[in-house]
Amino acid sequence: MPKKLSPGQLFLLLLIIFILTSSQQPDPRAEVRSLRFHQHPDFFRLVLEIEKVREYYSAELKNPERLYLDIFQARLKLGLHGTSYQVNSPCVKNLRLAQKNPSTVRLTLELVPGTKQAEKIYYLKNPNRLVLDIYPRVAAARPAPSAAEAPRSRPADETARPTGHQPQPPAPSSSGYSLVRQLGLGVRRIVLDPGHGGSDPGCISPSGLKEKDVALDLARRLKVLLETQGKFEVFVTRDKDETLPLEQRTALANQKAADLFISIHLNASPRKNRTGVETFYLNFSPDPAVNELAARENASSTKNIRDMKLIVDKVIKNSKYEESRDLAEKIHSHLLQHLKQNFGPRDDLGVKGGPFWVLIGSEMPAVLVETSHLSNAKEEAALKTEIYREAVALGLFRGIMEYVKSLGKG
Ligand SMILES: [Zn+2]
Repeated sequence: MPKKLSPGQLFLLLLIIFILTSSQQPDPRAEVRSLRFHQHPDFFRLVLEIEKVREYYSAELKNPERLYLDIFQARLKLGLHGTSYQVNSPCVKNLRLAQKNPSTVRLTLELVPGTKQAEKIYYLKNPNRLVLDIYPRVAAARPAPSAAEAPRSRPADETARPTGHQPQPPAPSSSGYSLVRQLGLGVRRIVLDPGHGGSDPGCISPSGLKEKDVALDLARRLKVLLETQGKFEVFVTRDKDETLPLEQRTALANQKAADLFISIHLNASPRKNRTGVETFYLNFSPDPAVNELAARENASSTKNIRDMKLIVDKVIKNSKYEESRDLAEKIHSHLLQHLKQNFGPRDDLGVKGGPFWVLIGSEMPAVLVETSHLSNAKEEAALKTEIYREAVALGLFRGIMEYVKSLGKG
């Protein structure tokens, strides 16, 4: 008879198994390799060289006033850990770099109280680096940094353009709502994100139709429709059946400095008669059904729900929130209306906030649309046909176009 293990022995055994199995995985973290900073005439710039593009998140803290930047799935190079620097800047007192936890690097800047007007954070390539610019409050004679001005003030040591297009994302506004509209920015770059892929099939219909395959096909069709307009650059997060972590999807959209991010999915419900369209923007939801769906869509995330609460609290306060909801409403109503007109009645499941990882960290209006149900026999049968898929793509297209027109730039 094998001897029964004590709780202590069991824990030790599990720990050994964990260490053995985890040591065989390649380290997914990107190395933060160097830090440099400089006070330019109009702004303070800090540059972190980092091995790969990673999601980041920034927020401000009070007492003392400081700004921090968390870089996820990252680790500090030996020698950078715990370093702190005195800074000769009118708006920054000092800064510190630390490995906040095994997967997160935190940069903290202690600010000179009341001096910061705005900050901009973006990636540059070759080598990959994350740039943080802090603009101080200035006299009325000198306007705040705007989309058009920022690149001109870029000094010689950072001549490479941000990975984005022109105009650059504007400095964050405390007023929040409709920054896109206030600045009259149009839509040029769109990132389409076919849900799931590779080892993650998403939901699977009774006859074996996989969400990942349908979503990819829908994204391809939508891309063609958008490109025929001749004024958009359209990217897809994946163009084949490959595994792609959720965090990398928005990271890619940020890297491309996209103006819109649309994640395309198919729904599945235990209620087999449920049909129709359900569209999400990022928020927390009191609805258990929404959270259940989100848990399914989040299944491939490497982060945990505790991280998420912290992040979403911040994200829902940002300026993309209203725009994302607006985009979601337009996409939702056009898609639903188009499917109803051509294929008969279906459920309007509404536009909702939901805690979806793939929407977190995007720096542009972002929505996730559950275009139809693989769990419903009628919609599943329709999803096997070209004509229905084309109709879904067209409905999404019309919603996007209405949003673009509503910005006054369409
Ligand atoms: Zn999905």
